[in-house]
Amino acid sequence: MTDDTLAPVAATATPPAPTIGFVSLGCPKALTDSELILTQLSAEGYRTAKSYQGADLVIVNTCGFIDDAVKESLDAIGEALAENGKVIVTGCLGAKAGEGGGNLVQQVHPKVLAVTGPHATQEVMDAVHSHVPKPHDPFVDLVPAAGIKLTPKHYAYLKISEGCNHRCTFCIIPSLRGDLVSRPVGDVLKEARALFEGGVKELLVVSQDTSAYGVDVKYRTGFWDGKPVKTRMLDLVAALGELARQHGAWVRLHYVYPYPHVDEVIPLMAQGLVLPYLDVPFQHAHPDVLRRMKRPASGERNLERIQAWRQACPELVIRSTFIAGFPGETEEEFAYLLDFLQEAQIDRAGCFAYSPVNGAAANELPGALPDAVREERRARFMAVAEAVSVQRLRRRIGATMQVLVDRAPALGRKGGVGRTYADAPEIDGTVRLLPPAKASTVLRVGEFAKARIVATEGHDLVGEPV
Ligand code: SF4
Repeated sequence: MTDDTLAPVAATATPPAPTIGFVSLGCPKALTDSELILTQLSAEGYRTAKSYQGADLVIVNTCGFIDDAVKESLDAIGEALAENGKVIVTGCLGAKAGEGGGNLVQQVHPKVLAVTGPHATQEVMDAVHSHVPKPHDPFVDLVPAAGIKLTPKHYAYLKISEGCNHRCTFCIIPSLRGDLVSRPVGDVLKEARALFEGGVKELLVVSQDTSAYGVDVKYRTGFWDGKPVKTRMLDLVAALGELARQHGAWVRLHYVYPYPHVDEVIPLMAQGLVLPYLDVPFQHAHPDVLRRMKRPASGERNLERIQAWRQACPELVIRSTFIAGFPGETEEEFAYLLDFLQEAQIDRAGCFAYSPVNGAAANELPGALPDAVREERRARFMAVAEAVSVQRLRRRIGATMQVLVDRAPALGRKGGVGRTYADAPEIDGTVRLLPPAKASTVLRVGEFAKARIVATEGHDLVGEPV
């Protein structure tokens, strides 16, 4: 069952490149993990050492299948620690719990530098990078760690999954992109850290259904910084919030459906770990329309849920989108939607007049409404939405708010434009920043400023830098 080897040397011509020792134990699946790690090491310019003594660090890929394999793996780790001292452990044994639920490897060998479970090439590479920095590559190093981004330097979108398990009748995304596939939590967190380190001050979490993150992998435990993290919305958001706090940055959540487990995220907002802002695409409020739409969480009592969220986190701002004039929508159902909008006090609401999408199941539903009715309902919806939004915005007047500066020509001497936690870029409002009263106050793009809100202008605020 086992095949322990010190892997052969990957030849390289760069003399100062660091060398890594590698011990590979376990079954063929573990062997392919070893191959992936060795390939990545080689691609990044590391050499592989023939002996413990010649290595800058040793990776032990372990097996935890039967007791004998556990013992063999623990012995190999002990030997590597004794001979070299710098050891990273990966593989099945790395995911095994010891007494009291702690990590078995760390309990037996507390001096190991990092421990990951199996299939964790990226986490292993992260651990290698933090203990033996990557050799310089003049070509690869031209690419920023965070990759090439099309957004301004100070905000970025972080995609956590692709596809969708729902089958909303007006939508064809699942047929285009397939079912939900969640990205490994370690990869997502690694990308987030690289973005923060690259100067991102606002991270916008996106997907088709952020609250479903991890459903496809049954909330599998991944690894991040040598620690287990579940592939689950709450755990991901908590870890992102922690990273953001370390970098003085914001995390904003988009496309969250009102499932009961979202309630657990609200306290993180109240604690300031993530922005108290939720983008919840409700699409409608009437239960019968939601059922015809086959919306996720359509059976939830959304109004009560929102009220409970607001009680737990009074600062919470909710953005949403709606569809007016869905097939079969009666005047009563539409009036119900308008009542919901007012009662739920949706801070930012957008509305589309229903329009059939080629290939969508809703096209077959009875009761299609004339274009004029759909348009008229959309206009009525927007009038109510704007009244709610403006009235909620006015409550900000007199408050001093943190603003992320998006534009500030001449260091803001003539003023600038920014956003508060209540405004996502591109879709919400902005804060028009007046020229600072004090000459010493400057505004810089991508930095936070404090502003006293003095007025509203439609969906926007006007603020005086302080
Ligand atoms: S609209 Fe419905 S089916 Fe389409 S992506 Fe969103 S949740 Fe999935």
